[in-house]
Amino acid sequence: MLNKNLVVQAVQDRRFLHEHPELSGEEYETCAFIRKRLEALNIEILDFQPPSIVGFVKGTKGNKTIALRADIDALPITEEGDKPYISKNPGVAHMCGHDGHTAILLAVSEWISQHAAEIEPNILLIFQSAEEISPSGADQLIKQGVLEDVDAIFGIHLWHGMDKGKIGLRPGSMMRRWMTLKLRYRDMVGMDLCRMKPLILYMYHLMLYNPYKAL
Ligand SMILES: [Zn+2]
Repeated sequence: MLNKNLVVQAVQDRRFLHEHPELSGEEYETCAFIRKRLEALNIEILDFQPPSIVGFVKGTKGNKTIALRADIDALPITEEGDKPYISKNPGVAHMCGHDGHTAILLAVSEWISQHAAEIEPNILLIFQSAEEISPSGADQLIKQGVLEDVDAIFGIHLWHGMDKGKIGLRPGSMMRRWMTLKLRYRDMVGMDLCRMKPLILYMYHLMLYNPYKAL
């Protein structure tokens, strides 16, 4: 059963992180914030290179390991608006929702620490730096062996097209890390360019929803 306090805490954490966004690979303050929270929960912190940070909770059986992953970086965008928790870091903002992912995984970490006596598998809590650049923080963590003993991994991404209160599930990859699409128009003007528009949109659709097929 979900503890209401966890939801209240997650909202507070999300707003704090939203106020203090950091760019990919530079999330040292975010990493310190997460570390402090995990330490307060007595969750073991594994030896991975910052600003990624990985927590570990030993399961009662421990014969399987489940990884839960959130990305923690923000984007080089200036936020405008009048919310009290607007970005305090000019030119940087959490516009992809990774502040929400981090806050959710912190709430899940707390729930897991409260229920550790009932959880059979080991749980790996991966707060991953640098999702928005290539090579990503995921590449670096995998090179350091983060997935070596993992039987299954789950990630989440907030999605504005989803109705409130609903979640969507998809096996395999989804919203795979950024990629650049370069299109060169040659000898095309007016109507020719207009005719290209559906093709460009279709290619974007393929990249978003079928990333492997599109490449
Ligand atoms: Zn994102």
